[in-house]
Amino acid sequence: MMSPTRTAVVVEDDDDIRELITHSLTMQGFDVSAAASGQAGLELVGSVDPDLVTLDLGLPDLDGIEVCRRVRDVSQAYVVMISARTDEIDRLMGLEIGADDYLTKPFSPRELQARVNAMFRRPRTGASGAADVAAANGAGGPTGGHVSPAATATVEAEPALVRHGRITVDPESRVAMVDSHEADLTRTEFDLLTTLMSAPRRVWSRAVLLESLWGPGWSEEHLVEVHVGNLRRKLTRLGPAGMRAPIRTVRGVGYRMEEPDSF
Ligand code: CA
Repeated sequence: MMSPTRTAVVVEDDDDIRELITHSLTMQGFDVSAAASGQAGLELVGSVDPDLVTLDLGLPDLDGIEVCRRVRDVSQAYVVMISARTDEIDRLMGLEIGADDYLTKPFSPRELQARVNAMFRRPRTGASGAADVAAANGAGGPTGGHVSPAATATVEAEPALVRHGRITVDPESRVAMVDSHEADLTRTEFDLLTTLMSAPRRVWSRAVLLESLWGPGWSEEHLVEVHVGNLRRKLTRLGPAGMRAPIRTVRGVGYRMEEPDSF
């Protein structure tokens, strides 16, 4: 059973699709609020403080990209961008708008549910994280909104701080720093960085990173490239001028952290 406390905001101007997403997420255990415009969606995000936001790119009043950026300013929710156009999705992924996943219309409720489950399955800490992980794992957790402390056992085993070169990551508080500057990372970027830094000399293939972030069964390795690219830029610009990007591309294989004394 899902925790009944998970909340979602659906921003979509098409009535049928809004209904479909709302129904799909409700079946998945979310308490769903829906809006038909960007402005109304932003107001809902402000009042509901959701765990998940699905955001249509083509809205009547505000650009979905702008809405996404504004959501990011006020919310730690997972954001799924939805567009009817594949080329739009490709363009979006190159921008740093802070979305965690992307879906192309038409999609089935099952596909949306699978994507959402995969996002919430990622091990993470934070106030609502443990409950989400327990719920999404279907680990037979309690159904009354109370989460067993055992659900956080694997999380508590993580080291307090992980350092590599100029970068310090605190998995507990989900803060990443470059020297003394805090990086403004999305959940996906943070999870990616934590994974890379968990074995900084290992070369991580795109497929393995994809699985560690989204769970098994996904083939969209280009998503990993996009998130690595955004992460790299965000980290590099916090360092001193001319600092080498802390994540190296290993051609034909994947990614690894740079040597700690090189950045
Ligand atoms: Ca639309």
